[in-house]
Amino acid sequence: MSDQSVVIITGASSGVGLWAAKALATRGWLVIMACRDLAKAEAAAAEAGIPAESRRILHIDLGSQASVRRFADDFHALGLPLDALLLNAAVYLPRATEPQRSPEGFEISVATNYFGHFLLAHLLLDDLKAAHGRPKTGGAGPARLITLGTVTANSEEFGGKVPIPAPADLGDLAGLAAGFQAPIAMIDGKPFKPGKAYKDSKLACMIMNREFQKRWGETGVIFNTLYPGCVADTPLFRHTPPAFQKIFPWFQKNITKGYVSQPLAGERTAQVVADPAFAAQSGVHWSWGNRQQEGRQAFAQKLSVRGTNEARNERLWDLTMKSVGLA
Ligand code: NAP
Repeated sequence: MSDQSVVIITGASSGVGLWAAKALATRGWLVIMACRDLAKAEAAAAEAGIPAESRRILHIDLGSQASVRRFADDFHALGLPLDALLLNAAVYLPRATEPQRSPEGFEISVATNYFGHFLLAHLLLDDLKAAHGRPKTGGAGPARLITLGTVTANSEEFGGKVPIPAPADLGDLAGLAAGFQAPIAMIDGKPFKPGKAYKDSKLACMIMNREFQKRWGETGVIFNTLYPGCVADTPLFRHTPPAFQKIFPWFQKNITKGYVSQPLAGERTAQVVADPAFAAQSGVHWSWGNRQQEGRQAFAQKLSVRGTNEARNERLWDLTMKSVGLA
């Protein structure tokens, strides 16, 4: 078996995922870029200067559970170890007037950002367990499951209190419990708010991480989330109004000072995936605060009560297991 470290990164065709791929390839890792548009991923990797021998590109559409299962089979067929899985891909559709639906009939931002990653993590968990502590170039280390969270999903932070369209809140999970099929489009079962659907999907991902830690932490695998800063100019914001796309990066650079460049966000993400300091704790949410300076130290950010209600988190896990066909 190869002694090169191997990471899968979902959504590595742009933004944080692309630059994390570059930072990990620079550290000597083999990067499996899990992307829905292979030609776009190939062009982005070449333009970012990720050497061809440091990367492989495999197809995945996280919004489709059949595609996620095919991806896991395709990865297993490569016969590679898996030292880290970086759950990064996301869609943000704040101007959708009607919910878009996944092939399984679920609202698309929850289906992509949360269900797809929940399923993928389960299909690859045994690979992470098997790779945990294996001898590699640079020494043995823990395997890691790392997920991108966000500030707007954590009402413990200022960005998470913004009421436009509403803070993340999974409520009593009534929408999920009722099957999450049309006309239901929100986890809490309330009327569709596309921007909130994104925030809810990210909150669900952060809760998922805590549940993985609770259930599988004793394996030694590290389960962490992170917020790398406000990367205000990535294509994530391509569906916002054009004026917002101009003003938002300027506002974050000059007023909040929360702006982080894509390469710096990628480097911070790579640190959480690879550096020993970020394996000292598991089950935590790493943040650099809402500041952009190079060299700023990361800290473990507290999650709000909306992400720490243990009984609801366990129920969310059980309902999601059903939604992705694992229970
Ligand atoms: P981005 O540049 O838009 O990257 C998102 C990636 O996800 C793209 O590669 C996209 O692929 C991929 N993707 C979307 N839908 C997919 C699907 N169905 N199947 C497979 N891949 C899919 O956005 P980003 O800002 O880098 O966001 C990356 C992560 O960082 C997200 O989890 C986001 O929530 C988180 N984050 C971002 C910020 C920020 O300020 N930007 C802040 C905090 C957290 P295509 O190229 O094909 O669209």
